[in-house]
Amino acid sequence: MTDSNQYKMQDPRSQYSMPTPQKNDNQPEPGLDSKLEPKADHGENTYVGSGRLKGRKALITGGDSGIGRAVAIAFAREGAEVIINHLESEEQDGKETLEQINASGSKGYAVVGDITDEKFCQTLVSEAVEKLGSIDILVNNAGKQQFVENLEDLSTEQFCKTYATNVFAMFWITKAAVPHMPAGSSIINTTSIQSYQPSTGLLDYASSKSAITGFTKSLAKMLINKGIRVNGVAPGPIWTPLQQSGGQPAKKLPHFGEHVPMGRPGQPAELAPVYVFLASQESSYVTAEIMGVTGGEHLP
Ligand code: NAD
Ligand code: MG
Repeated sequence: MTDSNQYKMQDPRSQYSMPTPQKNDNQPEPGLDSKLEPKADHGENTYVGSGRLKGRKALITGGDSGIGRAVAIAFAREGAEVIINHLESEEQDGKETLEQINASGSKGYAVVGDITDEKFCQTLVSEAVEKLGSIDILVNNAGKQQFVENLEDLSTEQFCKTYATNVFAMFWITKAAVPHMPAGSSIINTTSIQSYQPSTGLLDYASSKSAITGFTKSLAKMLINKGIRVNGVAPGPIWTPLQQSGGQPAKKLPHFGEHVPMGRPGQPAELAPVYVFLASQESSYVTAEIMGVTGGEHLP
């Protein structure tokens, strides 16, 4: 019997059911939560806020789906106003996330566009500032992951696009956002267990995540003189559309996440409390840190 109540003491191994896919068919990239089968849990029915981010202004890339959606819901329920960014083709997912944000009583907006374009990254930040007045929390969470088994099949185009999405956009958005971030602000970058334990078939992705880990630690040392903290979250295998749209080979999906000590993949809802902690003043002495949420596949 599973029980997704995040506040009830229970065996974490059975808190969520194994999201074993019914079919092996992949979605095209970017995958949609609205097409993900079985559905993921973003804390829609469980997350309870307690004013930990009251009045904060947050910008979350990839906030339409997966981990970003769970973070957006939790931030809104903690009292933050939230801007989400996503691609045009993800409008349905974005709409569902905005409905959740608005239902919590917080303001939510989407700024739609492709973050592999530096100009758009600057527009994203200026529109966020126009709508919210400042940026107190920046979550660089958007990511591209496409599994390619052999080196000879990994194209220069994919390698560059993965780095543009995962690394360059983080630089462009952060650089544009920092002048609008007051002391006490928090930047949270989504890295990955792949940064520490790279899998075969994820050469571009895993190495881009290592770059994010280094970027996060270096940026933290650079920005503490402005009173801004910078941390990262390294998820293990989490059930999101990223995995069902080429992040994993289809044949591996039925066993996704079984290899970790917890014996199951994580749900996006299990990530959100860590982002809330890093965004809030409760983590005032935490910077240049990477927090793993991996089901036991610890970081070194
Ligand atoms: P997801 O597909 O729900 O989120 C990724 C988001 O990235 C998409 O919603 C999309 O809006 C955004 N994106 C991709 N390319 C973009 C572009 N060019 N312009 C604008 N937005 C773009 O999947 P997720 O698993 O929730 O991914 C969120 C983050 O978590 C990613 O950085 C991913 O690498 C990381 N992560 C995921 C896992 C996992 O197992 N799911 C594990 C470790 C790290
Ligand atoms: Mg999405």
